[in-house]
Amino acid sequence: MKDIHGRTIDYLRISLTDRCNFRCIYCMPEEGVRQLSHDDILRIEEIARVVRVAAGLGVRSVRLTGGEPLVRKGVVDLVREIARTPGIENVSMTTNGVLLPKMAEDLKEAGLSRVNISLDTLDPEQFKGITRRGNLRQTLDGIEAALAAGFDPVKINAVAVRSLNQDYLAFARLSVDRPLHVRFIEYMPVGESSGGCGCGWGPEDVVSSEELLGIVNERARAQGLPELAPVDDGRRPLGWGPARYYEFPGARGTVGFISPLSRHFCGECNRLRLTADGKLRPCLFSDDEHDVRTALRGQAGTDVDAAVRAVFAAALGAKPDEHHDKVGTERGMSQIGG
Ligand code: SAM
Ligand code: SF4
Repeated sequence: MKDIHGRTIDYLRISLTDRCNFRCIYCMPEEGVRQLSHDDILRIEEIARVVRVAAGLGVRSVRLTGGEPLVRKGVVDLVREIARTPGIENVSMTTNGVLLPKMAEDLKEAGLSRVNISLDTLDPEQFKGITRRGNLRQTLDGIEAALAAGFDPVKINAVAVRSLNQDYLAFARLSVDRPLHVRFIEYMPVGESSGGCGCGWGPEDVVSSEELLGIVNERARAQGLPELAPVDDGRRPLGWGPARYYEFPGARGTVGFISPLSRHFCGECNRLRLTADGKLRPCLFSDDEHDVRTALRGQAGTDVDAAVRAVFAAALGAKPDEHHDKVGTERGMSQIGG
């Protein structure tokens, strides 16, 4: 699939639910967001059907996200269905990890290829503060469960928010003794307009990847520890995507920097997003959405797959060339599928 700017689109991110067992301060307001009704949400069979159609159009990789994808009933069966869809080469997931101790083995057995776990701090009190209802132990146990189930690579995603004062060096050093790939993500202005998320993003809270790399290395020097060095292409973790990777000498894992703001990677964008309520979004930063759900639930006798293909074609035709530093979207990250 090519979009109107000639980019190959072969990656679909699917939000399975807008619900979550956390309320991370940069993602959701304390009281949560207005939840979609049961009928609004795509059924598991509908999601599997969209994936079949997308695979026929050239999608090769699928990532399941949310909200928290592991709270969605039927997620293991969906992974199994997607993994055996002809044309799909890998199916991965982004999760807060809480339910991995219960589910990691089943997910692995069902064919999940890779898992990214979100974790922003190693300080138990700060973890409680950021997630509003989480317990650091649960996410750490989730990471252990993912490693024990044989997931490789296991990536740890941390959003850097200046006012949180996270200990970036301690975090980066998680990659030293374990085969963990730590990635720092720039804080993005998603979900601010119309009070969509109300999470209080401001440019002063963004720590650019370049600044962050400088801070990690400065703190490492101050403690007499070695600095990060760029990773050779051969050692990059599978599915490395738009991150730039570094490593500490002799480390088992790597440290990546994802810079959607400071280093636009829109020119290399290869993705579309499907929201939990069945809207195809050409760009994370744009409120333009294309309605797959109506196509899926079309009248009897209509060619549903053809209707879904037409929605994909419309979304491809509408993909912007870049995000143009847009600030704010109507729906928050947990609703769009971060
Ligand atoms: N609940 C799952 C989790 O937390 O991994 C999946 C959904 S969550 C929305 C996906 C990712 O988006 C998480 O890594 C989260 O930290 C990140 N995220 C949420 N809001 C963000 C923002 N404003 N800027 C950058 N990343 C954000
Ligand atoms: Fe939930 Fe993930 Fe958003 Fe945190 S970042 S509130 S875990 S969806």
